[in-house]
Amino acid sequence: MRILIAEDDQTCRAMLAAVMKKWGYDVIAVDDGGAAWEILQQPDPPRLIILDWVMPVVDGLELCRRIRAQEGSDPPYVILLTAKGETNDIVEALDAGANDYVTKPYDNAELRARIGVGRRMLELQADLNGAKNALAHEAMHDALTGIFNRRAILDGLSREISRAKRQGSALSIGICDIDHFKQVNDRHGHQVGDEILRGFTQIIQQNLRECDLLGRYGGEEFLIIASGSSGAPQEMLYERLREAIAVTPIPTRAGDISITVSIGVAPGGGDSTVDALLAAADTAMYRAKSMGRNCVTYAKK
Ligand code: GH3
Ligand code: MG
Ligand code: MG
Ligand code: MG
Repeated sequence: MRILIAEDDQTCRAMLAAVMKKWGYDVIAVDDGGAAWEILQQPDPPRLIILDWVMPVVDGLELCRRIRAQEGSDPPYVILLTAKGETNDIVEALDAGANDYVTKPYDNAELRARIGVGRRMLELQADLNGAKNALAHEAMHDALTGIFNRRAILDGLSREISRAKRQGSALSIGICDIDHFKQVNDRHGHQVGDEILRGFTQIIQQNLRECDLLGRYGGEEFLIIASGSSGAPQEMLYERLREAIAVTPIPTRAGDISITVSIGVAPGGGDSTVDALLAAADTAMYRAKSMGRNCVTYAKK
């Protein structure tokens, strides 16, 4: 783990750096608070920090305040190291945002133990952040295909409509339903059906632009949101997707299986609503089914 030491006294700094290295830390040592602040502004800064209180440019107390003022989800652990040892000094340091306080002259074993506490706190914090991020990811993604789930894609649609309103731009949505998918399950089993669903999303993702969104709307129904263009370019997009699916057999444990999709497209803009767009695309999709499937149909704007 990296540790930042800010201490203006050269002897003290050298001793601290040497002992930290001995304990296995990657040491970055600077001689004033300004240099420490600069390092903390860089990407991926050290999370474990030992600050002297009295030092030039920015003192340790002010540095603590600045660090706490910009606190995010991964705040550093700060130990203030100083000759000031009165109770009111300690209170002031902790109030400024220090996590711990060690008075000089310090005892090596105690300092090591206190740094160990900081390290454990940071590891715990990293674990919690990891778990939080994993949960947030799970809440928004479909477990089978890894793409956005229904809630996330509908949130995305609502955001894209707001954006179209702000920018006066267009968007369209396509509801894409796999044709006769029940037959695939009936003939080959649900696991093969699942493989098809995964393979299908991969083909679609390969054919979408960076700015388009894809989500699982229901069982074998998917929602595509294409923003920023309307008319012919969007019609080409959905036709390209339909064709890519039709001509790309999907590898499964039962061998390569070809599928087709029916896509209902609804054009929209800043004045659209989520409900109206979905209803229009759904109606268009059922028209594609009744026209014989493996085709794209468009709702009127
Ligand atoms: P159509 O062309 O009219 O859309 O016919 P279809 O068979 O695709 O439509 P239907 O609505 O009758 O059946 C959809 C099937 O999708 C039924 C359901 O078992 C299957 N399905 C939905 N979710 C999953 C899933 O996660 N895995 C698998 N394997 N099958 C699923
Ligand atoms: Mg000093
Ligand atoms: Mg369906
Ligand atoms: Mg279907």
